[in-house]
Amino acid sequence: MSNEYYREIEALFPDAVLIGDAVSEKYAVDWSAENAYQPTMVVRPKRVEDISSLLAYCNTNDLPVVTQGGLTGLAGGATPQQGEVVLSLERLSGITEIDSQSMTLTALAGTPLEQLQQAAEDAGFYLPLDLGARGSCTIGGNVSTNAGGNQVLYYGMTRALVLGLTAIKADGTVIRSMNKMLKNNAGYDLKQLFIGSEGTLGIVTEVVLRLYPKTLSKKSALCAFDNFNDVVGFLQTMQRRLSRVTAFELMWSNYVEKVFSINPNCSNPFTQKYPLYVLIEAEGSDIEYDGQRFDKVLADYLEQGNMLDAVVAQSNTDAEKFWHIRDGVSSILSAIKYRANFDIGVPVSVMDEFVKRVERALEKSITDLQLCTFGHMADGNLHLLAWTDSGSDDHKEAVVQSIYQQVYEIVGEMNGTVTAEHGIGAMKRKYLKLCRSEEEIALMRTLKQAMDPKGILNPNRVL
Ligand SMILES: Cc1cc2nc3c(=O)[nH]c(=O)nc-3n(C[C@H](O)[C@H](O)[C@H](O)COP(=O)(O)OP(=O)(O)OC[C@H]3O[C@@H](n4cnc5c(N)ncnc54)[C@H](O)[C@@H]3O)c2cc1C
Repeated sequence: MSNEYYREIEALFPDAVLIGDAVSEKYAVDWSAENAYQPTMVVRPKRVEDISSLLAYCNTNDLPVVTQGGLTGLAGGATPQQGEVVLSLERLSGITEIDSQSMTLTALAGTPLEQLQQAAEDAGFYLPLDLGARGSCTIGGNVSTNAGGNQVLYYGMTRALVLGLTAIKADGTVIRSMNKMLKNNAGYDLKQLFIGSEGTLGIVTEVVLRLYPKTLSKKSALCAFDNFNDVVGFLQTMQRRLSRVTAFELMWSNYVEKVFSINPNCSNPFTQKYPLYVLIEAEGSDIEYDGQRFDKVLADYLEQGNMLDAVVAQSNTDAEKFWHIRDGVSSILSAIKYRANFDIGVPVSVMDEFVKRVERALEKSITDLQLCTFGHMADGNLHLLAWTDSGSDDHKEAVVQSIYQQVYEIVGEMNGTVTAEHGIGAMKRKYLKLCRSEEEIALMRTLKQAMDPKGILNPNRVL
């Protein structure tokens, strides 16, 4: 991008531009920490009109734009590339309205998720979208990536919580679609184009979210199993016998033992090791009744002999300790530089076979393989981490690339998806064809061409 454009943008948006040394390193890369690129300029508008004008200017001058929310993405989508105008939504922040009769919360796109959760709670409601990055990720980023998280099993992905939104097209046209109703069948549901399209079809500036009544009781347990079939049986039993199972996280022993070895804040609540661990959570509206019911259903299952052991949380602190184990992935990611990090999806019916196939394939081809397997199993979503501890850094990096190729090929062969929640971004583009047909990708290109004919929005991402 030439200096002339920098000067013009600075003149057009004098209060919104950071340039040169004023641009901190945080704008150079998302949480994946891969392919960092320090931008010369960042535009941080506070008003929707300014974003619209910026896009109109960039579209006229064929300037590519990358949009940044909280930069917690893990697919490189918000990481700048050479020549791009960086548009940060961090200052387009705040709650516009809580409509307690319609049970909706409306907020600007740059508002951190945790602020929305708190505002909902303060108003006597519940916003069930929740993920580990809650303190930093923005609702605009959540919508654009159709974020998943810990409670998808009952409440669905972000898409299920978005009732309306405002988005800006590449040419600066503002599309206001601020629906508040659960039902609206008047023509195409345009908001869906912007949900999960990772900033390639438009910039989300404001969102109407669905709220739920406040949850009054929550019960958690950590359960141990010998094999995958027993876990599936447990999931279905719990869903049949409890009205609201909200989380069901499966962790293989290779993951749990790695977390215990690396993170001194995590400890094993059992006295021995088991092959598989499930963290289950159920919500309700009556503390006493729901608590007794949860304990009984769990005890019944244990008695049947298909579960090896179980520990029920007696307090919030106990429940937090269970979640520390599940969230211990951050410690592994921080400790291991060269590792393949997956958020793949496969149908539950082939998940066990998939894990065994991946283990066999990688063990055959990689010396000193390290593998951690865990994830939102009930959503068909697994996070695998794989790496080798042997060899030089170059060798480790080459091994990581070979792991990506091998695992994604198996995912494709088993009718899975290369990304169940983090998105394709810049990092998984070449693997999209392994899980989407030629016809699907052609239709995606048609949509992109129709909405952003010059291809200025997040180029080289997704497609
Ligand atoms: C510790 C941790 C835990 C996580 N857990 C989960 C999880 O459980 N489930 C899950 O799905 N993800 C998870 N993530 C990934 C990440 O938090 C989500 O993808 C989140 O939705 C990204 O939001 P963000 O504001 O940080 O977006 P960014 O990282 O800034 O951007 C992500 C993508 O969205 C685009 N974008 C951002 N804002 C907008 C906007 N307003 N309009 C248009 N495009 C936009 C960007 O261009 C980019 O392509 C986790 C990340 C971390 C670090």
